[in-house]
Amino acid sequence: MSANTATTILIGGEWREALSRSTFPVTNPATAAVIGWASDGGADDTAAAIAAADGAFDAWAGTTAHQRSGILAQANLIMRGRQKELAALMTSEQGKPLKASLNEVGYAADFLAWFAEEAKRIGGVTIPSARADQRFITMRQPVGVVAAITPWNYPISMLTRKLAPALAAGCTSVLKPAALTPLCAVATLEVLVEAGVPAGVLNMVTTSRAAAVGDTLVESPVVRKLTFTGSTAVGKKLAAKATESLKRVSVELGGHAPFIVFPDADPVRAAKGAALVKFLNTGQACISPNRIYVHRSHYDTFVTTLTERVKALKVGAGETPGVSIGPLIDERAVTKMESQVLDALEKGARVTVGGERVEVEGLEGKTFFAPTVLADVTPEMQIYYEETFGPIAAVMPYDDEEEVIAKANDSEYGLAAYVYTNDLSTAIRVTEKLRYGMVGVNDINPTSASAPFGGVKASGLGREGGYEGIDEYLDTKLVGIAV
Ligand code: ADP
Repeated sequence: MSANTATTILIGGEWREALSRSTFPVTNPATAAVIGWASDGGADDTAAAIAAADGAFDAWAGTTAHQRSGILAQANLIMRGRQKELAALMTSEQGKPLKASLNEVGYAADFLAWFAEEAKRIGGVTIPSARADQRFITMRQPVGVVAAITPWNYPISMLTRKLAPALAAGCTSVLKPAALTPLCAVATLEVLVEAGVPAGVLNMVTTSRAAAVGDTLVESPVVRKLTFTGSTAVGKKLAAKATESLKRVSVELGGHAPFIVFPDADPVRAAKGAALVKFLNTGQACISPNRIYVHRSHYDTFVTTLTERVKALKVGAGETPGVSIGPLIDERAVTKMESQVLDALEKGARVTVGGERVEVEGLEGKTFFAPTVLADVTPEMQIYYEETFGPIAAVMPYDDEEEVIAKANDSEYGLAAYVYTNDLSTAIRVTEKLRYGMVGVNDINPTSASAPFGGVKASGLGREGGYEGIDEYLDTKLVGIAV
């Protein structure tokens, strides 16, 4: 593949090079091989994409909900038909094990299917007036041009989670995918275009210069809505800029999930759950447990079981059968793991398994980190407050409920939390007190296209998926009618 021929920018229905004609390489994190090139878009390409989205808006907003629903339903079928091919691309570009990639493509298609249905349920209400000669009705209308900025860790589902409700609502969009995973973004947009999304309704600018493209998007008065998934630092900055022109904003940011095991829970089952959810996507998920609090009566059993499970996890390339721990996305991520482990060890934690970078025979990628259990973690340690985004399970004992709830809430973040208990009262009492947007009770995956995903505090604003997901893309118009 030549570096000169990347046409990964989609504007007005046409796949184009960057106006500057510059490109950037895309690498496989497991093999370090260059697997393709992407167009390196800039502010000029972004302005053209915004103009295309603006130009397409009236016609798209004027389609019927049933027409938009039909296109999304068709996209769902095409995506499912391409599940294997898309999963293989995802594994080579992002590194996650093939099985996880297959699951993610299914999850991505779920958003297409869900919002194909929700498109048909955009309805208003009638409101009684105090005046006998007046009637009120509400209409729900698309907000306008949407800017969508997406991360590399879920490189297809994070796109459909935003683009599907935007399409369903009648909005047009400009997408800026992460520089590490532009090829998955191209493949996703190809599905939507093939399903019948008209020219200009979906546009995309791939870039290695996130700020140039991002700033053009958030500063444009034409763009009426920002939807962002990524780090809290970048999300806060973009949200602040977006509100200067009073855009609608939804941001899904970092997390620091507590995972609490109560005295009445089965510590073995809880440890098995922790081993599954913590190491999902090699820990590179915003709902990944960061602090595992285990009641002292179960602590040793839990740590022993978790350690045994983690010892059995195989590290390698995502294509290799049996591998559940792929490479981390880049060198910076590995350095963060090393620094969190070193700091914790210096302050008295124990590594019961893993703890260091590993090399995998036959692979050139240098970003493999052994799945790790850190026991006896305390609040003095870096890992206690800092998001890990990698394969380290930080475990610590606690003694009573009030103490553990206070500790769990002592975080700037508020995305997911996990509670293990067999007592219904404990489950409800604790869930109510946790300042988090999602709580898994004896459940490691409280997510679905049909359920609202999102957090509180520094974890973000707004909800994606579920009944609420489409609200982010709709304005309410009140109509008062004198009769
Ligand atoms: P992560 O830690 O997941 O890489 P980032 O917040 O850095 O989180 O990235 C999430 C998305 O935000 C990506 O598409 C990235 O390119 C984009 N991004 C990063 N910095 C900026 C910026 N200054 N302006 C706009 N977008 C940005």
